[in-house]
Amino acid sequence: MYYIMLTARISSVFKKITYAALRSGRNPEEIKLIAVTKSQPIDKIIESVDLGLRVFGENKVQEAKQKIEKLNEFNFNIKWHMIGHLQSNKVKEAVRLFEIIHSVDSDKLAILIDKEASKIKKIQRALIQVKLSEEETKYGINEDAVEEILELSKKLKYLQIEGLMTIPPYFVTPEDTRPYFRKLRQIKEELSQKGYPLQELSMGMSNDFEVAIEEGSTMVRIGTAIFGPRIN
Ligand SMILES: *Cc1c(COP(=O)(O)O)cnc(C)c1O
Repeated sequence: MYYIMLTARISSVFKKITYAALRSGRNPEEIKLIAVTKSQPIDKIIESVDLGLRVFGENKVQEAKQKIEKLNEFNFNIKWHMIGHLQSNKVKEAVRLFEIIHSVDSDKLAILIDKEASKIKKIQRALIQVKLSEEETKYGINEDAVEEILELSKKLKYLQIEGLMTIPPYFVTPEDTRPYFRKLRQIKEELSQKGYPLQELSMGMSNDFEVAIEEGSTMVRIGTAIFGPRIN
């Protein structure tokens, strides 16, 4: 029964991604789906791999590590993204587990990631998490501090910043998130014009990913719309 629901949800999400891209004049292939598996059990993740999903997001290093180790036994060709706040004492583990870290939110963290990545000679791909509202989101840096991290990261050989990420406040009406997504794209475009090589915009979750795609998202992070409610 779950498998059938999962099939329907995944195809519905892909359809919505495709239509949102097409109605805003974009190529649907520019948008990567990151299936957010936090609080979801291993067997559901395996079923979703069977149904074609290949990129997964987790927000806690410890939980991710357990899942990744289990799934490694199957030799699936899958990738993991770190989408939650990264604590200093988890950086070493994180650079071993994740293809992309979406949540660089301080100079200190950037330096630490570079240091740990250098030890294993890995170029760690990452995004800067930007905080665009005062109230709701706890993590992320203010807009005016983004360039400082980009400037610093020029000197960090093993940290490769590829774009920006944001988590807007939750709104019942998805349309209300549009100004936040538009703002993140503007910040990215301004910095690109200054010569920083930013390609990715990680924005959009279950409730608002279509709006995010219309505003230029290249990575949507979707949990409940694929797996159903999280069990805690
Ligand atoms: C949980 C989470 C998501 C997915 O949220 P859904 O509303 O379930 O799609 C996306 N991004 C981050 C950073 C998250 O923590």
